[in-house]
Amino acid sequence: MAILIDGKALAAKVKAEVAAEAAKLTRKAGLAVILVGDDPASRVYVNGKEKDCRECGIVSFEYKLPADTAESTLLELIDRLNRSERVDGILVQLPLPQGLDERTVIHSIAADKDVDCFHPYNTGLLYMGEPVFMPCTPAGVMEMLHAYDIPVEGRRCVVIGRSNIVGKPMSALLLADNGTVTTCHSKTSDISEITRSADILVSAVGKTRSLTADMVKKGAVVIDVAMNRDENGKLCGDADFAAVSERASAITPVPGGVGPMTRAMLMRNILTAARLHGA
Ligand code: NAP
Repeated sequence: MAILIDGKALAAKVKAEVAAEAAKLTRKAGLAVILVGDDPASRVYVNGKEKDCRECGIVSFEYKLPADTAESTLLELIDRLNRSERVDGILVQLPLPQGLDERTVIHSIAADKDVDCFHPYNTGLLYMGEPVFMPCTPAGVMEMLHAYDIPVEGRRCVVIGRSNIVGKPMSALLLADNGTVTTCHSKTSDISEITRSADILVSAVGKTRSLTADMVKKGAVVIDVAMNRDENGKLCGDADFAAVSERASAITPVPGGVGPMTRAMLMRNILTAARLHGA
């Protein structure tokens, strides 16, 4: 039976560290959160981030805009926040409603306030091995591996998923830690053969029970990034959890695994931004 990697407990520890460091700043760090429209899931995420900010002594400024907001209005707000001395980080909650171009919006955030690490400048630095901000979800995974003394160097790592937010930066961070990395996606053939070679297997697909026990090598570490809903509406990951736990040596639960770590890493990025701004 696999060890359960407790993301919730580790996230609490990271946030306590951030809070202690944030208290030493010459002024309070600030995060601007922009929520366009009324998607209930996005509302939940934004509430969670505001709660984390409170716990870490970070001021959060919320901007709630209607779904039919013109792109020019949103860009004007971001421009104002880019120039605000009280704001260290800017976060635009995705997905955006139709009619707003995510790429244009994300690119308009000043690179030194891009605490989600989505801006091409910051992703470029990341792939060059000189990151300023860390991509929150992959950085949360690395923090878990380190905290549980799971070595990456020299080991076979397989990432399922190649999105700009999760899969690609996840592969980059494992590579930076000297793992030997294979990235799989929807066009990968013989995927089970590849995943069965993994010492560390990260799944970021977004499909319930897409990761079955026969895809996992005995003793592998399984990191389940996904946040899906099962047929009963219950939050779950990609892994067929009970069966995969029987084969893995360690596994992250959903909920309580990667999700809380993602949020904690965001807090760490805001601290980095505040220091960058001389706070
Ligand atoms: P995404 O943009 O939809 O990417 C999914 C990836 O999975 C794509 O690269 C896709 O391949 C690949 N894929 C789809 N079906 C596949 C299959 N049958 N076999 C192999 N690969 C397959 O999603 P995302 O934004 O990366 O998110 C992935 C999951 O992580 C979602 O459940 C999301 O909710 C969750 N998530 C969790 C957190 C957290 O904090 N825990 C943060 C972000 C995202 P192609 O590129 O070929 O289409």
